[in-house]
Amino acid sequence: MRSRWTLFNVMGIPVRADVSVLVLALYVVVTTFPHLDVGLFLTAALLVSIVLHELAHSAVAVAFGGQVRDITLQLLGGCAAITRMPPRPSHEVLMAAAGPVCSLALAALCGVLSEAFPTRYVVGTLGPYELTESAPNLWLSLAAGLNLGLALFNLVPAFPMDGGRILRAALQCLGKGKVAATAIAVAVGRGIAVLWAAVCVLDFVGVRFRAPTEWPEAGQLLFNIVFGSGGILLLLIAYMIWVSGKRELEYVRYEETFNGGWR
Ligand SMILES: [Zn+2]
Repeated sequence: MRSRWTLFNVMGIPVRADVSVLVLALYVVVTTFPHLDVGLFLTAALLVSIVLHELAHSAVAVAFGGQVRDITLQLLGGCAAITRMPPRPSHEVLMAAAGPVCSLALAALCGVLSEAFPTRYVVGTLGPYELTESAPNLWLSLAAGLNLGLALFNLVPAFPMDGGRILRAALQCLGKGKVAATAIAVAVGRGIAVLWAAVCVLDFVGVRFRAPTEWPEAGQLLFNIVFGSGGILLLLIAYMIWVSGKRELEYVRYEETFNGGWR
């Protein structure tokens, strides 16, 4: 049975959906229950935001001589399969940063647009958000929060996430070899993965971490994403970081041994 479907092509890159994206959709709908309209909107907004985030990575990769096979939407978000990386570390920094920068720009745009709909009738809350009857205002501020969350989460330096890729390429720019830089980035990423796994276990037994409400909103959001979400998805992401970081380190070592690595 097929488990991936091609949805459309952008810039010659096929955008595909893995069957596991249905689990992500179900997860969002269940966690926002009983606000079904909010759940469905968040699912759609999340998928569109992820595609735009991955397209930003892809566009910069292609511009600097990289090659992108496809973009796949899946349970843990999106993944641009970059079959050839831009050869220079400084270009890899830009490629890794492009996704979060795109998400930050979308967050800013949605945030500004939401201010254009000032009328708010609060009917309930969803996490830090007030659910209002003024639909455009509510949808836009949810989309802004979603993209801000995507940007901040991806900037956590947990290799092979964007922040970890930026860390590795920055270490290379500072003169470290590719293997050494990857080893450091993987070690940092694995430390964060262990921390996240511990947070999930503590959350499971009822210990919750929440940022103090007097912190700035972005600081609270970042803290709550990193230490407070505690869901099964965070545990899966921690596992993914643990496994794929090591796999990529082995690949870089192999490449260094047999090809002499990139100079
Ligand atoms: Zn990214």
